[in-house]
Amino acid sequence: MRRKLVVGNWKMHGSRIANAQLLAGLKEAGPWNADVAVCVPFPYIAETALALTGTSIVYGAQDCSAHEQGAYTGEVSSAMLSDIGCRYVIVGHSERRAYHAESDQLVADKAKAALAHGVTPIVCVGETRAEREAGQTEAVVKRQLAAVIHTLGHCCGEMVVAYEPVWAIGTGLTATPAQAQAVHAVLRAQLHAATDRSGVMRILYGGSVKADNAAELFAQADIDGGLIGGAALKAGDFSAICRAAAQ
Ligand code: PEP
Repeated sequence: MRRKLVVGNWKMHGSRIANAQLLAGLKEAGPWNADVAVCVPFPYIAETALALTGTSIVYGAQDCSAHEQGAYTGEVSSAMLSDIGCRYVIVGHSERRAYHAESDQLVADKAKAALAHGVTPIVCVGETRAEREAGQTEAVVKRQLAAVIHTLGHCCGEMVVAYEPVWAIGTGLTATPAQAQAVHAVLRAQLHAATDRSGVMRILYGGSVKADNAAELFAQADIDGGLIGGAALKAGDFSAICRAAAQ
């Protein structure tokens, strides 16, 4: 039995005051019988760490550099994330693939850099609406995951995978539990061929997960929790999703 993992992706939202209120709300609502993390904007990581002291909620970032260190203005290395206690880093989110032209290989290199510093990469894969309509869902997610498996080698069993259909992110459209499970099963089979850890690896679903659809999604055999965007910004909504994961 895999323990569920729920990760909040705050994206580029928040302020010191809003974050303090959100984190206080989560502290009050928890703990849950599930692993819970928040991936926050870089400037707020240190304060988030302080606010979460003494709780079981861990924290992380939303991106990292593929480089170790050096003249890469504006980038943040995984060594730095590790240094400030980040447990997770999201890599390959569809917004970064789309707006920053991140390739499958760059995403894989970022995942490798994260693991090298003990930060668990949450590797996002997912098809666009056009790709789904063209019947390419399986091919797209397998191609995206294959690059990471190939680059990480035997360490690939250490990552978390997040299936996030692009058409479901921030749109209010959610994959049905059956649609999501079908893709998760494909990803699990691909992992199975690559690592003997496939049975314990967590594959999260992300895309308009809300309090009222979380339980059904999380009940699917290969869905091990969620990557939550919009609903992670309200303590009540996010904690309801964490409760759903704990059932
Ligand atoms: C996300 O950005 O990872 C996400 C799943 O967003 P939302 O929950 O808002 O669809």
